Amino acid sequence: MKKTRSTPEVHIGPLKMGGDNPIVIQSMTNTDTSDIDATVAQALELAHAGAQVIRMTVNDEAAAKAVPEIITRVRTQFELNPMAFVGDFHFNGNKLLKAVPDCAQALDKYRINPGNADDTNFKEMVEIAVQHQKAVRIGVNGGSLDQKVLDNLMELNAQSPTPLAAGNIFIKAMVKSALNSAQLAESYGLKKNQIVVSVKISEVNQVVAAYQSVAEQSDYCLHLGLTEAGSGLQGVVQSSVALGILLNQNIGDTIRVSLTPNKNVPRSEEVEVCKQILQSLDLQRFRPKVVSCPGCGRTTSTFFQDLALRVNNLIDQELSHWKKEFPGVENLNIAVMGCVVNGPGESKNSDIAISLPGKMEKAQAPVYIDGQLSVWLKGDAIENQFIEILKDYIKTRFA
Ligand code: SF4
Repeated sequence: MKKTRSTPEVHIGPLKMGGDNPIVIQSMTNTDTSDIDATVAQALELAHAGAQVIRMTVNDEAAAKAVPEIITRVRTQFELNPMAFVGDFHFNGNKLLKAVPDCAQALDKYRINPGNADDTNFKEMVEIAVQHQKAVRIGVNGGSLDQKVLDNLMELNAQSPTPLAAGNIFIKAMVKSALNSAQLAESYGLKKNQIVVSVKISEVNQVVAAYQSVAEQSDYCLHLGLTEAGSGLQGVVQSSVALGILLNQNIGDTIRVSLTPNKNVPRSEEVEVCKQILQSLDLQRFRPKVVSCPGCGRTTSTFFQDLALRVNNLIDQELSHWKKEFPGVENLNIAVMGCVVNGPGESKNSDIAISLPGKMEKAQAPVYIDGQLSVWLKGDAIENQFIEILKDYIKTRFA
């Protein structure tokens, strides 16, 4: 699926987003930025997982002073893809950027939250961006919406003969704040192709409505995200639903999934979810796809589940090596099915597939290659034999 909403191409350091460029994945560190070692380590984790843009908090002078070294060290240690670095500024961004010009120069983009920047702060941050030729994200957030904008719209709504619900006014205020601020930034000298806009809210229907409205009213490059999505499954599902709807409508140039940290889950989970979202929508491929059925009363053993798991584990272990040796391997489609009900159909739609025997079926498993029945596997070694056939297929097809 190709993007059809036309946005300007924005250059963020060595990285290009918007225009016809693929959707960019980004994430944010949650270390104390002044702790250079910890921030470099986490930025590298995110980069290796596939984040192309990494944002870090710049909340005080120690953080600002740490930024240049962090960027240099990450760029030196990670040369696989072009990376861009963003500083997240709020109440004192202008003071920090003026006090630490090396930080202003080292960053590729400044994130400015109009709700947390007074007029002087906002103007001076944009002017510094213009001076250093940096991109800016106007990042409006539902939790820190500019109260003046909301109050004005609420007052007008109260006087209207057909007032809208408060939730609708809130969305209007988010959009107005973002677009007014972006236009103000242009009036201070920033070009349209140096501006990215976001309108993050923590509620799925509202965030979808807000981005749709921005997309209807402007052609700014858009950073999509559901803010404060929560932790675990809730955060993953809510973010996937919101971003999936918008991306499917060709809205969005870069995405971030904001998950509440869990000490048992790496920060790079955010990046993995972004990749899954883009792959689910066929926008980009990152790893071979494994179709496997959910199982039912026709499968009395865990045989096909074990094989599906083993195939997925093999992909996880071998993917970085396969990508170097076998270019295009991420486009492979594999099916591991539990019985002959849907097995043959899915097998014919996959590059390589196996249907395990269900209850009462003969203890044999058909393997399909390129949609054609290739061999029947029998006996105790079916699992190992299929793994070997899969490896050989990859070697032959993608060599
Ligand atoms: S393919 Fe067979 S085992 Fe799998 S869900 Fe369908 S009927 Fe059940």
